[in-house]
Amino acid sequence: GRRAPEAQPVDDPKALQSLAEGGTRMVCTGRTHTDRICRFKGLCYSSDAEEFLFFHGNASVMLPNLGPRRFQPALLDLSSVEDHSAQYFNFLELPAAALRSLPRPVFLPDVALIANRFNPDNLMHVFHDDLLPLFYTLRQFPGLARGARLVFMEGWPEGAHYDALYQLLSPKPPLLRAQLKALGRLLCFPRAVVGLSKTTTWYQYGFVQPQGPKANILVSGHEIRQFARFVADKLNASHAAGRPLGEEYILVFSRTQNRLILNEAELLLALAREFQMKTVTVSLEDHVFADVVRLVSNASMLVSMHGAQLVTALFLPRGATLVELFPYAVNPDHYTPYKTLAALPGMDLGYVAWRNTAPENTVTHPTRPWDEGGIAHLDPAEQARILQSREVPQHLCCRNPEWLFRIYQDTRVDIPSLIQTIRRVVKGRPLPRKQKQKQTVSLYPGKVREARCRAAVQGASEARLTVSWQIPWNLKFLKVREVRYEVWLQEQGENSYVPYMLALRNHTFTENIKPSTTYLVWVRCIFNKLLLGPFADVLVCRT
Ligand code: UDP
Repeated sequence: GRRAPEAQPVDDPKALQSLAEGGTRMVCTGRTHTDRICRFKGLCYSSDAEEFLFFHGNASVMLPNLGPRRFQPALLDLSSVEDHSAQYFNFLELPAAALRSLPRPVFLPDVALIANRFNPDNLMHVFHDDLLPLFYTLRQFPGLARGARLVFMEGWPEGAHYDALYQLLSPKPPLLRAQLKALGRLLCFPRAVVGLSKTTTWYQYGFVQPQGPKANILVSGHEIRQFARFVADKLNASHAAGRPLGEEYILVFSRTQNRLILNEAELLLALAREFQMKTVTVSLEDHVFADVVRLVSNASMLVSMHGAQLVTALFLPRGATLVELFPYAVNPDHYTPYKTLAALPGMDLGYVAWRNTAPENTVTHPTRPWDEGGIAHLDPAEQARILQSREVPQHLCCRNPEWLFRIYQDTRVDIPSLIQTIRRVVKGRPLPRKQKQKQTVSLYPGKVREARCRAAVQGASEARLTVSWQIPWNLKFLKVREVRYEVWLQEQGENSYVPYMLALRNHTFTENIKPSTTYLVWVRCIFNKLLLGPFADVLVCRT
């Protein structure tokens, strides 16, 4: 196709006049620096000062106007990683009149999305911290998805995944911080969005507490799969485009430099024999990324050592199984980025973790550099302790030597134990690629309608309460396997309530119902045991 236009800043007298008179305008969403994204008109960047500039003019707006709290600790996070002090964004303030003594600004006409990539050389970070947040931030603000100029301010060079991945998100080539200088000493963005949405991230890397799933995950498999489909389409690697092998297969994702599977050939044979399926290998070294996506998105099962390459599980078809292998002394429960991904509602993936429990099947590398797991630089007592330890204790990111030592071991996989572990989850054949998985979208019930109660008193001590309601409005459009109603009965003034699970749309309560008493009654609908709807307005019933 046609080459997209490189960034061309222009001398724009009208834009300059508007900036010099009106100044910079900023309005943000979010209540704290960790969930804030800001939209600017007339944001500038001085490549001399290496600072963003906010010019105060007669139309300037700065919302939120935080005063000194703008520095406590910052206006916002520039990357999707929460509250990381190396990723803060702020600007310098100047009176618009200062423009007269600054270099003449040049204007970048495209709307810009300004953010930091977190670690562009690690595939997990590329997808989880950058691509997914960029993709959905571009869709959060009008006008961005179609042609934003991404501006990466973290200061890293392009990295290994620039052309294959970062370039896919916008038709315009991104800009790196290092390129800004060449565009002008004072570069201004007529329109810019600064910051990244964190709504799609599911994992925290352990900067303040040991790593694990985020406390409040806000993304489901549906949004992940929409993104995956976008990427696959751009790479021309969508399901329809790629039937690479014509039959079902198990994919083994190998690492070729470290954390090796030492008996990979044996593993491939054993998997083929056990599941009566072809087995195929893929690696980031031997395949271009489009081929990786093509292979993963048609696989019935994906088997790999723990590692960033496993983020490609987001391309697996529904119904497939992810099998993650852990080296000796590494507890799978403590490192769950890929398990959490596979378990997102609507991902519809199976997940199996296997760990090497046999010290004779591990190969350690104590003399390698520290960042490849070497421990020779530690004092001998500490080395001895690490060598004897049977499990890495939980730890913070990112330089724990015992963790690095263990995670960079190579492993001879004990085949019978692995097969047994997989068989606990995958009973028959791994789900075939072509099996049209019924896309069960989980839709929640609405409120029950026309809820009413009627009391009947019999004598001085007996009473009954009849409660009735109509189905939620959306039920008539849905095929639901099981519809139930939950009713909570609470005597007014009491702290506790009695719950009932009912199949019909009315019920007469007789037990524990007293005359001349006020009851509060809540009713909600539940689909298929799990999909809990909202409670209807409380009924106040007097017997
Ligand atoms: N990597 C690779 N082959 C290897 C080792 C690593 O392609 O043999 C890739 C890996 O997928 C990741 C990057 O190199 O994208 C950094 O790997 P590292 O071991 O530092 O991180 P991890 O995989 O543990 O997250």
